[in-house]
Amino acid sequence: MGNPHILVIPYPAQGHVIPLMELAQCLARHGGINITFVLTQTTHSQILNSSALNNVALDDGIHLVSVLDASESNESSNVPGKLFEAISKIMPGKVEKLIRGINASSSESHITCVIADQSLGWALELAKKLGVQTAAFLPAAAANLVLGFNIPKLIDDGIINNEGIPAENKTFQFAPTMPFMNTSDFVWVRMGNLTLQRVVFQMMLGNNKSVKSADWLICNSAYDLEPGAFSLAPEILPIGPLLATKTLKTPTSSAGSFWPAEPNCLKFLDQHPPCSTIYAAFGSSTAFSEAQFEELAKGLELTNRPFLWVVKSDDANRKPNISERGMMVNWTPQQEVLSHPSLGCFLSHCGWNSTIESAINGVPILCWPYFADQFINQSYICDVWKIGLALKRDNNGSGIIKSEEIKNKVDQLLGDNSFKERALHLKEVTRANIAEGGSSHNNLMNFIKWINA
Ligand code: UDP
Repeated sequence: MGNPHILVIPYPAQGHVIPLMELAQCLARHGGINITFVLTQTTHSQILNSSALNNVALDDGIHLVSVLDASESNESSNVPGKLFEAISKIMPGKVEKLIRGINASSSESHITCVIADQSLGWALELAKKLGVQTAAFLPAAAANLVLGFNIPKLIDDGIINNEGIPAENKTFQFAPTMPFMNTSDFVWVRMGNLTLQRVVFQMMLGNNKSVKSADWLICNSAYDLEPGAFSLAPEILPIGPLLATKTLKTPTSSAGSFWPAEPNCLKFLDQHPPCSTIYAAFGSSTAFSEAQFEELAKGLELTNRPFLWVVKSDDANRKPNISERGMMVNWTPQQEVLSHPSLGCFLSHCGWNSTIESAINGVPILCWPYFADQFINQSYICDVWKIGLALKRDNNGSGIIKSEEIKNKVDQLLGDNSFKERALHLKEVTRANIAEGGSSHNNLMNFIKWINA
Protein backbone atom coordinates (compact mmCIF):
# COMPACT_ATOMS: atom_id res chain seq x y z
CA MET A 1 0.00 0.00 0.00
CA GLY A 2 3.00 2.33 0.50
CA ASN A 3 3.28 5.35 2.75
CA PRO A 4 0.24 7.51 3.37
CA HIS A 5 0.04 10.69 1.30
CA ILE A 6 -1.45 13.87 2.73
CA LEU A 7 -2.16 17.28 1.29
CA VAL A 8 -1.19 20.24 3.49
CA ILE A 9 -2.82 23.58 2.66
CA PRO A 10 -1.67 26.67 4.59
CA TYR A 11 -3.15 30.12 4.24
CA PRO A 12 -0.38 31.69 2.09
CA ALA A 13 1.07 34.07 4.70
CA GLN A 14 4.33 33.73 6.62
CA GLY A 15 2.81 33.16 10.06
CA HIS A 16 0.69 30.30 8.65
CA VAL A 17 3.24 28.66 6.34
CA ILE A 18 6.05 28.33 8.92
CA PRO A 19 4.08 26.31 11.52
CA LEU A 20 2.44 24.09 8.89
CA MET A 21 5.86 23.44 7.38
CA GLU A 22 7.08 22.51 10.87
CA LEU A 23 4.18 20.07 11.16
CA ALA A 24 4.88 18.66 7.69
CA GLN A 25 8.54 18.09 8.64
CA CYS A 26 7.52 16.42 11.84
CA LEU A 27 5.14 14.05 10.00
CA ALA A 28 7.73 13.28 7.35
CA ARG A 29 10.34 12.43 9.99
CA HIS A 30 8.26 10.54 12.52
CA GLY A 31 5.76 8.86 10.33
CA GLY A 32 7.39 8.38 6.94
CA ILE A 33 4.39 10.18 5.52
CA ASN A 34 4.42 11.68 2.00
CA ILE A 35 3.34 15.28 1.88
CA THR A 36 2.20 17.54 -0.92
CA PHE A 37 2.43 21.10 0.38
CA VAL A 38 0.14 23.53 -1.45
CA LEU A 39 1.26 27.14 -2.07
CA THR A 40 0.62 30.10 -4.31
CA GLN A 41 3.17 30.85 -7.01
CA THR A 42 4.43 33.85 -5.05
CA THR A 43 4.98 32.02 -1.75
CA HIS A 44 6.36 28.98 -3.58
CA SER A 45 9.14 30.97 -5.22
CA GLN A 46 9.82 32.93 -2.02
CA ILE A 47 10.41 29.71 -0.11
CA LEU A 48 12.62 28.24 -2.83
CA ASN A 49 14.70 31.40 -3.10
CA SER A 50 15.19 31.81 0.62
CA SER A 51 15.91 28.09 1.17
CA ALA A 52 18.58 28.03 -1.48
CA LEU A 53 20.31 30.96 0.15
CA ASN A 54 19.77 29.67 3.63
CA ASN A 55 20.81 26.16 2.81
CA VAL A 56 17.70 24.79 4.46
CA ALA A 57 16.87 21.49 2.81
CA LEU A 58 13.33 20.20 2.78
CA ASP A 59 12.86 16.78 4.29
CA ASP A 60 12.46 13.76 2.05
CA GLY A 61 8.84 13.20 1.29
CA ILE A 62 7.79 16.87 1.21
CA HIS A 63 6.81 18.07 -2.22
CA LEU A 64 5.93 21.74 -2.80
CA VAL A 65 3.32 22.60 -5.43
CA SER A 66 2.00 25.95 -6.59
CA VAL A 67 -1.70 26.10 -7.49
CA LEU A 68 -2.42 29.81 -7.83
CA ASP A 69 -0.53 31.98 -10.33
CA ALA A 70 0.64 35.41 -9.23
CA SER A 71 -1.66 36.96 -11.86
CA GLU A 72 -4.63 35.20 -10.23
CA SER A 73 -3.78 35.89 -6.59
CA ASN A 74 -2.78 39.54 -6.99
CA GLU A 75 -0.62 39.19 -3.90
CA SER A 76 1.55 42.13 -4.88
CA SER A 77 -1.42 44.50 -5.31
CA ASN A 78 -1.95 44.71 -1.55
CA VAL A 79 -5.63 45.49 -2.10
CA PRO A 80 -7.50 44.48 1.08
CA GLY A 81 -9.40 41.23 0.65
CA LYS A 82 -8.02 40.51 -2.87
CA LEU A 83 -5.85 37.56 -1.89
CA PHE A 84 -8.56 36.13 0.34
CA GLU A 85 -11.05 36.41 -2.53
CA ALA A 86 -8.71 34.62 -4.96
CA ILE A 87 -8.07 31.92 -2.38
CA SER A 88 -11.74 31.25 -1.76
CA LYS A 89 -12.89 31.58 -5.39
CA ILE A 90 -10.08 30.20 -7.55
CA MET A 91 -8.16 27.83 -5.30
CA PRO A 92 -10.96 25.32 -4.58
CA GLY A 93 -11.22 24.28 -8.25
CA LYS A 94 -7.44 23.95 -8.54
CA VAL A 95 -7.10 21.91 -5.36
CA GLU A 96 -9.94 19.63 -6.42
CA LYS A 97 -8.20 19.02 -9.74
CA LEU A 98 -4.93 18.33 -7.91
CA ILE A 99 -6.49 15.74 -5.58
CA ARG A 100 -8.45 14.06 -8.37
CA GLY A 101 -5.32 13.95 -10.54
CA ILE A 102 -3.16 12.37 -7.84
CA ASN A 103 -5.85 9.90 -6.83
CA ALA A 104 -6.43 8.84 -10.44
CA SER A 105 -2.75 8.16 -11.01
CA SER A 106 -1.38 4.66 -10.69
CA SER A 107 2.18 5.75 -9.86
CA GLU A 108 1.46 7.96 -6.83
CA SER A 109 0.02 6.90 -3.49
CA HIS A 110 -3.47 8.32 -3.08
CA ILE A 111 -4.25 11.27 -0.86
CA THR A 112 -6.17 10.03 2.15
CA CYS A 113 -6.03 13.12 4.34
CA VAL A 114 -6.09 16.90 3.93
CA ILE A 115 -4.62 19.11 6.66
CA ALA A 116 -5.88 22.63 6.02
CA ASP A 117 -5.50 25.93 7.78
CA GLN A 118 -8.69 26.40 9.78
CA SER A 119 -9.37 29.66 7.91
CA LEU A 120 -9.84 27.62 4.70
CA GLY A 121 -13.22 26.08 5.47
CA TRP A 122 -13.74 25.32 1.75
CA ALA A 123 -10.71 23.00 1.74
CA LEU A 124 -12.14 20.93 4.60
CA GLU A 125 -15.52 20.72 2.87
CA LEU A 126 -13.94 19.85 -0.47
CA ALA A 127 -11.93 17.02 1.13
CA LYS A 128 -15.10 15.60 2.71
CA LYS A 129 -16.85 15.72 -0.66
CA LEU A 130 -14.01 13.73 -2.20
CA GLY A 131 -14.11 11.15 0.58
CA VAL A 132 -10.78 12.29 2.05
CA GLN A 133 -10.21 12.61 5.81
CA THR A 134 -9.64 16.05 7.29
CA ALA A 135 -7.68 17.88 9.94
CA ALA A 136 -8.17 21.59 10.62
CA PHE A 137 -5.01 23.35 11.81
CA LEU A 138 -5.07 26.52 13.88
CA PRO A 139 -1.75 28.42 13.73
CA ALA A 140 -2.97 30.90 16.37
CA ALA A 141 -4.01 30.78 20.02
CA ALA A 142 -6.92 28.44 20.82
CA ALA A 143 -8.54 31.51 22.42
CA ASN A 144 -9.28 32.75 18.89
CA LEU A 145 -11.49 29.76 18.16
CA VAL A 146 -13.18 30.06 21.54
CA LEU A 147 -14.03 33.61 20.48
CA GLY A 148 -15.19 32.39 17.04
CA PHE A 149 -17.36 29.63 18.57
CA ASN A 150 -18.96 32.27 20.81
CA ILE A 151 -19.92 34.71 18.05
CA PRO A 152 -23.60 33.57 17.98
CA LYS A 153 -23.79 34.06 21.76
CA LEU A 154 -22.15 37.49 21.54
CA ILE A 155 -24.82 38.45 18.98
CA ASP A 156 -27.64 37.04 21.19
CA ASP A 157 -26.29 38.93 24.19
CA GLY A 158 -26.25 42.18 22.20
CA ILE A 159 -22.48 42.62 22.59
CA ILE A 160 -22.04 42.74 18.80
CA ASN A 161 -24.51 43.09 15.94
CA ASN A 162 -24.92 40.69 12.98
CA GLU A 163 -21.93 42.26 11.28
CA GLY A 164 -19.67 41.94 14.30
CA ILE A 165 -19.78 45.65 15.22
CA PRO A 166 -19.56 46.05 19.02
CA ALA A 167 -22.44 47.84 20.75
CA GLU A 168 -20.16 49.30 23.40
CA ASN A 169 -16.59 49.33 24.57
CA LYS A 170 -16.31 46.58 27.12
CA THR A 171 -13.64 44.25 28.48
CA PHE A 172 -14.40 40.70 29.59
CA GLN A 173 -12.88 37.25 30.06
CA PHE A 174 -14.55 34.00 28.92
CA ALA A 175 -12.91 32.17 31.84
CA PRO A 176 -10.01 32.57 34.24
CA THR A 177 -6.66 32.05 32.44
CA MET A 178 -8.32 33.19 29.20
CA PRO A 179 -7.01 36.50 27.86
CA PHE A 180 -9.00 39.65 28.56
CA MET A 181 -10.93 40.69 25.49
CA ASN A 182 -11.87 44.24 24.74
CA THR A 183 -14.73 44.53 22.23
CA SER A 184 -12.71 47.12 20.28
CA ASP A 185 -9.87 44.60 20.00
CA PHE A 186 -11.92 41.70 18.61
CA VAL A 187 -9.89 39.98 15.89
CA TRP A 188 -12.19 41.14 13.07
CA VAL A 189 -12.47 44.70 14.43
CA ARG A 190 -8.67 44.94 14.40
CA MET A 191 -8.27 44.14 10.68
CA GLY A 192 -7.37 47.69 9.74
CA ASN A 193 -10.29 48.47 7.44
CA LEU A 194 -14.00 47.75 7.04
CA THR A 195 -13.65 45.50 3.99
CA LEU A 196 -11.34 43.09 5.80
CA GLN A 197 -13.39 43.40 8.98
CA ARG A 198 -16.46 42.05 7.13
CA VAL A 199 -14.51 39.36 5.31
CA VAL A 200 -12.87 38.05 8.48
CA PHE A 201 -16.05 38.20 10.58
CA GLN A 202 -18.01 36.21 8.00
CA MET A 203 -15.10 33.80 7.59
CA MET A 204 -14.90 33.13 11.34
CA LEU A 205 -18.64 32.65 11.60
CA GLY A 206 -18.84 30.43 8.51
CA ASN A 207 -15.82 28.33 9.44
CA ASN A 208 -17.18 27.29 12.84
CA LYS A 209 -19.14 24.50 11.18
CA SER A 210 -16.40 23.17 8.89
CA VAL A 211 -13.82 23.31 11.67
CA LYS A 212 -16.03 21.43 14.11
CA SER A 213 -16.87 18.75 11.59
CA ALA A 214 -13.23 18.05 10.67
CA ASP A 215 -11.93 14.67 11.85
CA TRP A 216 -9.20 16.45 13.85
CA LEU A 217 -8.91 20.00 15.12
CA ILE A 218 -5.29 20.65 16.05
CA CYS A 219 -3.63 23.80 17.29
CA ASN A 220 -0.06 25.12 17.50
CA SER A 221 -0.33 25.76 21.22
CA ALA A 222 0.11 23.89 24.48
CA TYR A 223 -2.24 22.98 27.29
CA ASP A 224 -0.17 24.89 29.85
CA LEU A 225 -0.16 28.05 27.71
CA GLU A 226 -3.96 28.14 27.49
CA PRO A 227 -5.62 25.87 30.07
CA GLY A 228 -8.80 27.98 30.12
CA ALA A 229 -9.27 27.89 26.35
CA PHE A 230 -8.70 24.13 26.11
CA SER A 231 -11.19 23.52 28.94
CA LEU A 232 -13.83 25.63 27.20
CA ALA A 233 -13.20 23.96 23.83
CA PRO A 234 -11.84 20.46 24.54
CA GLU A 235 -12.32 19.50 20.88
CA ILE A 236 -9.23 21.61 20.07
CA LEU A 237 -6.11 19.50 20.57
CA PRO A 238 -2.81 21.28 21.22
CA ILE A 239 0.22 19.78 19.45
CA GLY A 240 2.73 22.60 19.94
CA PRO A 241 4.72 24.67 20.11
CA LEU A 242 5.71 22.81 16.96
CA LEU A 243 8.84 24.76 16.30
CA ALA A 244 10.29 23.77 19.63
CA THR A 245 10.07 20.05 18.91
CA LYS A 246 12.51 20.73 16.14
CA THR A 247 14.72 23.39 17.66
CA LEU A 248 15.44 21.80 21.04
CA LYS A 249 18.48 19.93 19.76
CA THR A 250 19.34 21.40 16.40
CA PRO A 251 18.19 24.97 15.98
CA THR A 252 18.04 25.98 12.31
CA SER A 253 16.20 28.56 10.26
CA SER A 254 12.63 27.67 9.49
CA ALA A 255 12.21 25.81 6.24
CA GLY A 256 9.07 27.80 5.42
CA SER A 257 10.77 31.20 5.65
CA PHE A 258 9.93 33.61 2.81
CA TRP A 259 13.23 35.49 3.13
CA PRO A 260 16.87 34.53 3.64
CA ALA A 261 18.14 35.18 7.15
CA GLU A 262 21.16 37.37 7.82
CA PRO A 263 23.71 34.95 9.31
CA ASN A 264 25.85 37.65 10.96
CA CYS A 265 23.23 38.50 13.52
CA LEU A 266 24.19 35.46 15.60
CA LYS A 267 27.82 36.60 15.67
CA PHE A 268 26.56 39.99 16.79
CA LEU A 269 24.67 38.36 19.67
CA ASP A 270 27.76 36.36 20.62
CA GLN A 271 29.55 39.62 21.45
CA HIS A 272 27.15 40.59 24.22
CA PRO A 273 26.75 39.43 27.82
CA PRO A 274 23.84 37.20 28.93
CA CYS A 275 20.35 38.75 29.06
CA SER A 276 21.60 42.11 27.73
CA THR A 277 20.31 42.49 24.18
CA ILE A 278 16.97 43.76 22.92
CA TYR A 279 15.56 41.89 19.93
CA ALA A 280 13.09 44.08 18.02
CA ALA A 281 11.05 42.34 15.30
CA PHE A 282 7.51 42.82 14.12
CA GLY A 283 6.73 39.78 12.00
CA SER A 284 6.36 39.58 8.26
CA SER A 285 4.15 42.51 7.39
CA THR A 286 4.41 45.45 9.79
CA ALA A 287 5.23 48.83 8.25
CA PHE A 288 5.77 51.94 10.35
CA SER A 289 5.02 55.55 9.54
CA GLU A 290 8.12 57.71 9.07
CA ALA A 291 7.53 59.38 12.46
CA GLN A 292 7.02 56.09 14.29
CA PHE A 293 10.08 54.57 12.67
CA GLU A 294 12.25 57.50 13.85
CA GLU A 295 10.79 57.29 17.34
CA LEU A 296 11.54 53.57 17.52
CA ALA A 297 15.14 54.14 16.40
CA LYS A 298 15.51 56.87 19.04
CA GLY A 299 13.93 54.69 21.72
CA LEU A 300 16.29 51.79 21.04
CA GLU A 301 19.25 54.18 21.25
CA LEU A 302 17.94 55.69 24.49
CA THR A 303 17.95 52.31 26.22
CA ASN A 304 21.74 52.31 26.03
CA ARG A 305 21.67 48.56 25.44
CA PRO A 306 22.71 46.43 22.48
CA PHE A 307 19.87 45.75 20.07
CA LEU A 308 19.15 43.61 17.02
CA TRP A 309 16.40 45.16 14.91
CA VAL A 310 14.58 43.51 12.01
CA VAL A 311 13.50 46.13 9.50
CA LYS A 312 11.21 44.92 6.73
CA SER A 313 9.67 45.98 3.42
CA ASP A 314 9.04 49.71 3.06
CA ASP A 315 11.14 50.52 6.09
CA ALA A 316 14.24 48.84 4.67
CA ASN A 317 15.27 51.91 2.69
CA ARG A 318 15.23 54.17 5.71
CA LYS A 319 18.59 54.66 7.30
CA PRO A 320 18.38 56.06 10.80
CA ASN A 321 21.58 56.95 12.62
CA ILE A 322 22.24 54.12 14.99
CA SER A 323 25.29 53.53 17.13
CA GLU A 324 27.51 50.47 17.00
CA ARG A 325 25.51 48.98 19.82
CA GLY A 326 22.75 48.28 17.33
CA MET A 327 22.42 46.04 14.28
CA MET A 328 19.70 46.37 11.64
CA VAL A 329 18.87 43.37 9.45
CA ASN A 330 16.17 42.40 6.94
CA TRP A 331 15.38 38.97 8.39
CA THR A 332 16.82 36.74 11.11
CA PRO A 333 16.72 33.05 11.97
CA GLN A 334 14.31 34.12 14.72
CA GLN A 335 14.11 30.86 16.63
CA GLU A 336 17.89 30.80 16.96
CA VAL A 337 17.97 34.45 17.97
CA LEU A 338 15.39 33.92 20.72
CA SER A 339 17.29 30.95 22.11
CA HIS A 340 20.56 32.93 22.28
CA PRO A 341 21.79 33.53 25.85
CA SER A 342 22.53 37.22 25.23
CA LEU A 343 18.82 38.00 24.68
CA GLY A 344 17.34 40.24 27.35
CA CYS A 345 13.88 40.95 25.95
CA PHE A 346 11.83 40.79 22.77
CA LEU A 347 10.17 43.95 21.47
CA SER A 348 7.43 42.26 19.48
CA HIS A 349 4.20 42.80 17.54
CA CYS A 350 2.87 39.72 19.38
CA GLY A 351 2.12 37.51 16.37
CA TRP A 352 1.30 34.07 17.78
CA ASN A 353 4.43 32.41 16.38
CA SER A 354 6.68 35.11 17.82
CA THR A 355 4.81 34.91 21.12
CA ILE A 356 5.25 31.17 21.59
CA GLU A 357 8.82 31.23 20.26
CA SER A 358 9.61 33.74 23.00
CA ALA A 359 7.70 31.78 25.65
CA ILE A 360 9.47 28.52 24.88
CA ASN A 361 12.82 30.28 25.23
CA GLY A 362 11.99 32.11 28.47
CA VAL A 363 12.37 35.60 26.94
CA PRO A 364 10.26 38.45 28.43
CA ILE A 365 8.25 40.47 25.89
CA LEU A 366 7.56 44.14 25.34
CA CYS A 367 4.24 44.23 23.45
CA TRP A 368 3.55 46.35 20.39
CA PRO A 369 0.42 44.79 18.80
CA TYR A 370 -1.30 46.43 15.83
CA PHE A 371 -3.44 43.86 14.04
CA ALA A 372 -5.95 41.00 14.33
CA ASP A 373 -5.23 38.45 17.10
CA GLN A 374 -2.13 40.27 18.38
CA PHE A 375 -4.20 41.96 21.10
CA ILE A 376 -5.37 38.59 22.44
CA ASN A 377 -1.73 37.48 22.53
CA GLN A 378 -0.73 40.67 24.32
CA SER A 379 -3.24 39.90 27.07
CA TYR A 380 -1.82 36.38 27.46
CA ILE A 381 1.67 37.87 27.78
CA CYS A 382 0.82 40.71 30.19
CA ASP A 383 -2.28 39.58 32.13
CA VAL A 384 -2.20 35.78 32.16
CA TRP A 385 1.44 34.67 31.94
CA LYS A 386 2.76 38.01 33.29
CA ILE A 387 5.97 37.74 31.27
CA GLY A 388 5.76 41.12 29.60
CA LEU A 389 4.57 44.71 29.49
CA ALA A 390 2.38 46.61 27.02
CA LEU A 391 3.64 49.78 25.38
CA LYS A 392 1.29 52.75 25.63
CA ARG A 393 0.52 54.93 22.65
CA ASP A 394 0.83 58.68 23.10
CA ASN A 395 -2.58 60.14 23.89
CA ASN A 396 -2.01 63.43 22.06
CA GLY A 397 -3.93 61.93 19.12
CA SER A 398 -0.91 60.82 17.07
CA GLY A 399 -1.16 57.23 18.35
CA ILE A 400 2.62 57.06 18.27
CA ILE A 401 4.70 55.10 20.77
CA LYS A 402 7.31 57.57 21.97
CA SER A 403 11.01 56.89 22.44
CA GLU A 404 10.81 57.63 26.19
CA GLU A 405 8.00 55.08 26.59
CA ILE A 406 10.15 52.46 24.86
CA LYS A 407 13.15 53.23 27.06
CA ASN A 408 11.10 53.31 30.28
CA LYS A 409 9.34 50.02 29.59
CA VAL A 410 12.59 48.28 28.62
CA ASP A 411 14.12 49.49 31.91
CA GLN A 412 11.06 48.34 33.85
CA LEU A 413 11.01 44.92 32.18
CA LEU A 414 14.73 44.25 32.56
CA GLY A 415 14.95 45.91 35.97
CA ASP A 416 12.40 43.60 37.60
CA ASN A 417 13.67 40.05 37.74
CA SER A 418 10.22 38.59 38.38
CA PHE A 419 9.41 38.86 34.65
CA LYS A 420 12.40 36.70 33.77
CA GLU A 421 11.58 34.22 36.56
CA ARG A 422 8.01 33.75 35.31
CA ALA A 423 9.28 33.51 31.72
CA LEU A 424 11.71 30.75 32.72
CA HIS A 425 8.93 28.92 34.55
CA LEU A 426 6.67 29.15 31.49
CA LYS A 427 9.55 27.86 29.36
CA GLU A 428 9.86 24.78 31.59
CA VAL A 429 6.15 23.89 31.67
CA THR A 430 5.74 24.49 27.94
CA ARG A 431 8.75 22.33 27.16
CA ALA A 432 7.27 19.61 29.36
CA ASN A 433 4.17 19.67 27.12
CA ILE A 434 6.21 18.80 24.04
CA ALA A 435 8.61 16.39 25.70
CA GLU A 436 7.87 12.66 25.55
CA GLY A 437 4.78 11.94 27.65
CA GLY A 438 3.66 15.61 27.55
CA SER A 439 0.14 16.48 26.38
CA SER A 440 1.16 18.11 23.08
CA HIS A 441 3.51 15.24 22.32
CA ASN A 442 0.82 12.63 23.03
CA ASN A 443 -1.72 14.42 20.83
CA LEU A 444 0.80 14.61 18.01
CA MET A 445 1.72 10.93 18.30
CA ASN A 446 -1.97 9.94 18.27
CA PHE A 447 -2.49 12.12 15.22
CA ILE A 448 0.41 10.42 13.41
CA LYS A 449 -0.95 6.98 14.37
CA TRP A 450 -4.34 7.94 13.00
CA ILE A 451 -2.86 9.09 9.68
CA ASN A 452 -0.92 5.84 9.42
CA ALA A 453 -3.90 3.66 10.33
N1 UDP B 1 10.54 35.39 11.57
C1 UDP B 1 11.83 35.05 11.24
N2 UDP B 1 12.75 36.05 11.09
C2 UDP B 1 12.46 37.36 11.29
C3 UDP B 1 11.13 37.69 11.66
C4 UDP B 1 10.19 36.68 11.80
O1 UDP B 1 12.14 33.87 11.05
O2 UDP B 1 13.34 38.20 11.15
C5 UDP B 1 9.53 34.30 11.73
C6 UDP B 1 9.17 34.12 13.17
O3 UDP B 1 10.09 33.24 13.78
C7 UDP B 1 7.75 33.58 13.10
C8 UDP B 1 7.22 34.15 11.80
O4 UDP B 1 8.34 34.64 11.06
O5 UDP B 1 7.79 32.16 13.03
C9 UDP B 1 6.27 35.31 12.01
O6 UDP B 1 5.07 34.84 12.53
P1 UDP B 1 4.22 35.68 13.56
O7 UDP B 1 2.99 34.89 13.84
O8 UDP B 1 5.04 36.03 14.73
O9 UDP B 1 3.91 37.04 12.82
P2 UDP B 1 3.22 37.41 11.40
O10 UDP B 1 4.31 37.50 10.39
O11 UDP B 1 2.21 36.34 11.11
O12 UDP B 1 2.61 38.75 11.66
